[in-house]
Amino acid sequence: EQDVNEYRKSLAIRVSGFDVPKSVKTFEDCGFSTQIMGAIKRQGYEKPTSIQCQALPVVLSGRDIIGIAKTGSGKTAAFVLPMIVHIMDQPELQKEEGPIGVICAPTRELAHQIYLEAKKFAKSYGIRVSAVYGGMSKLEQYRELKAGCEVVVATPGRLIDMLKMKALTMTRATYLVFDEADRMFDLGFEPQVRSIVGQIRPDRQTLLFSATMPHKVEKLAREILTDPIRVTVGEVG
Ligand code: ADP
Ligand code: MG
Repeated sequence: EQDVNEYRKSLAIRVSGFDVPKSVKTFEDCGFSTQIMGAIKRQGYEKPTSIQCQALPVVLSGRDIIGIAKTGSGKTAAFVLPMIVHIMDQPELQKEEGPIGVICAPTRELAHQIYLEAKKFAKSYGIRVSAVYGGMSKLEQYRELKAGCEVVVATPGRLIDMLKMKALTMTRATYLVFDEADRMFDLGFEPQVRSIVGQIRPDRQTLLFSATMPHKVEKLAREILTDPIRVTVGEVG
């Protein structure tokens, strides 16, 4: 019985904010194109996870979100799938004006994983995804960014290096994601996060995902998000 209670707690979903879009039960409910549906099926995803059921309609509606759920709950697809829709909604995709989607993750391993996930869904649309993190040649990354991309997945420090080198401009960036925000703080990236936010237009859509929500992350979220909807899955600190 103890186990059952623990299990129930782990599935508890709380949503707050005003005008919350209705949650979905299936990927079809999201109104994804057949191309995206095909990519989802190829991934072997049959139905959305708890966080995806709540987060997908929120993000697809253009609202800012704070998504709190433990590791392994499927947060990546919750921001990657709506990002593809967001990008395809933009006019003149071919213009070389810098990325539309900017995703920040605290470590190069995480950035690389997100990069791979984003590429799976972006590929069939001709959406170019660039990865920018330490341990790779700055010159090579500079060249890649100069060639143009619609999505950049980056660690905060290296993204700032690239911005200083004018490898990319943020004029077209309207979809900003901070993944694993708690770890971002643990690793001391708060100043870099703030610097990046300061370089992206205020009429952007901002998404913040985290496994836990310490006070410092809460405070930052309040500063950088506009009327966010908060989705919490499970009991988290
Ligand atoms: P998180 O970022 O919350 O830790 P991930 O986005 O890395 O979680 O997803 C964890 C795993 O679940 C990955 O292997 C991913 O491919 C898989 N996954 C994500 N969404 C679904 C889904 N709807 N159905 C089945 N597997 C999924
Ligand atoms: Mg993750």
